[in-house]
Amino acid sequence: MSAGRLCRKGSCLLLARGDPVLGATAWKHKSFKTYTAALKQEDFSKLISTEMVKIQKKAKEALPGSDWSPFKSMDHLPPEHADVVIVGGGIMGWSVAYWVKKLQTQRTTFKVVVVERDPSYSHASTVLSAGGIRQQFSRPENIQMSLFGADFLRNVNDYLGIENGDRIDIQFNPSGYLFLSSEKSAEILEENYRVQREQGAKVALLSPDQLKKKFPWINIQDVALASYGLENEGWFDPWTLLNAFRQKALSMGVLHCHGEVVGFDYVTREMLTAEGDSINLKRIKQVIVQTQNSLETQHVECMAVVNTAGAWSSKVAEMVGIGHGNPGTYEVKLPVEPRKRYVYMFHCPNGPGLDCPLLIDSSGAYFRREGLGGNYIGGMSPTEEEEPDTSNLDVDHNYFQEKVWPLLAHRVPVFESLKVKSAWAGYYDYNTFDQNGIIGAHPLVQNLYFACGFSGHGLQQAPAVGRGLAELMHEGRFITLNLSCFDFKRVIIQQPVLERNIV
Ligand SMILES: Cc1cc2nc3c(=O)[nH]c(=O)nc-3n(C[C@H](O)[C@H](O)[C@H](O)COP(=O)(O)OP(=O)(O)OC[C@H]3O[C@@H](n4cnc5c(N)ncnc54)[C@H](O)[C@@H]3O)c2cc1C
Repeated sequence: MSAGRLCRKGSCLLLARGDPVLGATAWKHKSFKTYTAALKQEDFSKLISTEMVKIQKKAKEALPGSDWSPFKSMDHLPPEHADVVIVGGGIMGWSVAYWVKKLQTQRTTFKVVVVERDPSYSHASTVLSAGGIRQQFSRPENIQMSLFGADFLRNVNDYLGIENGDRIDIQFNPSGYLFLSSEKSAEILEENYRVQREQGAKVALLSPDQLKKKFPWINIQDVALASYGLENEGWFDPWTLLNAFRQKALSMGVLHCHGEVVGFDYVTREMLTAEGDSINLKRIKQVIVQTQNSLETQHVECMAVVNTAGAWSSKVAEMVGIGHGNPGTYEVKLPVEPRKRYVYMFHCPNGPGLDCPLLIDSSGAYFRREGLGGNYIGGMSPTEEEEPDTSNLDVDHNYFQEKVWPLLAHRVPVFESLKVKSAWAGYYDYNTFDQNGIIGAHPLVQNLYFACGFSGHGLQQAPAVGRGLAELMHEGRFITLNLSCFDFKRVIIQQPVLERNIV
């Protein structure tokens, strides 16, 4: 089954999967009157909303110190209909929303709503991440996505700037990533380096002597080879990027809804495969949203749904039966689950200075500078056996003392005297199947798309993934960068996409 393309027929919505011809016909059939009426209705709602805000402001001025208002804001409520409902308003959700609007043409104007259950983002991976971007992957598609990510960040004001709005400063630190390898893994590092160079990434290999010369604070004992990103690598502020995507998308007409997606209404249709086997295809008709302080749920009629629920994406997929069913159909789960990762912030006044890159040790421990003044953040992914309980975001401080610190102090001897100042934990949106993003439509649920499972590299890939998914939805295929290897189908047919550089 091929990727889908979105189109409408009359006032009802339909999805023509991978069929540009049917897509075009459907557009011709669309009633112009219905469409104009819908637009007018939208304008009218906007006007009412603006007037409400003005009246509320006046009421507040009349009753200073009081929060009372005769009108409840309806801003956060979902609309009754939307073309695209995006579940989860982290970096992926807002990037998809932005790109769907950006790539629309006059003939394909989509009404897009992003549903987010926690606008404070207290548990979202995006704002709890380390903010890193690198090209040092082994898979060409991952390298390309991050190269585009770097270009997007560099030109972020062109992409996400808003007329008369403040300039966006994502605080990019172009200090590079530095991967260190032991004798055992040097060959792999060199192979990865070759792929990275072929893909246009500016990476250099350093011998232990060259490494010592460039970074005298590193202990090169047991380092056989290093690779160092010369351009487009470093870290930035995830909050600023998230907010910039969100503001820009809102300015383009994307709606936001404060609520939790709790289910879907869908229809099932039986089909016969070429081999004569019967399969059930599903199509989501409505997204069921629970809004805050309300016992009732709201139903949003939709044409397509995008699952960008991060570490909770598998729960959203289950709502349409993915992970439950007979063998050969829906029994294959979306293999994404939360995995807790700690980030420790420490101080070391004599530590590495301005040229300090994001160093990934051969042991898996990592650290980078955090601002100036001898502050750093660092951590390490646990082994499968050490994976901590994910029911809360409590930090295990012993993990740093016992596992991470000894490795950091071995690599940077001055870190013997570091002092931990604070720490936090966040969830990796961990793909247990192959630790790579799952991007694209589900083969059986015809109008459900995914952008999840990025396992620690989703932030930097968000611009490219949003663009790719929007291309898929508008054109029925990837245009700029072929991301079809990340399709859900690979999980069903058990063909992992391997990436050697997962941190
Ligand atoms: C400690 C740590 C360090 C990291 N470091 C990096 C890094 O250096 N570089 C990098 O590129 N990536 C990094 N990552 C990974 C990156 O943060 C994620 O891959 C990325 O943020 C995923 O974005 P997202 O929008 O899919 O998920 P999230 O940001 O988690 O957003 C998902 C949203 O969906 C909402 N949601 C879930 N279910 C529902 C529902 N049913 N209804 C409504 N809303 C729902 C949630 O409330 C959440 O806000 C790191 C992650 C962690 C935890």
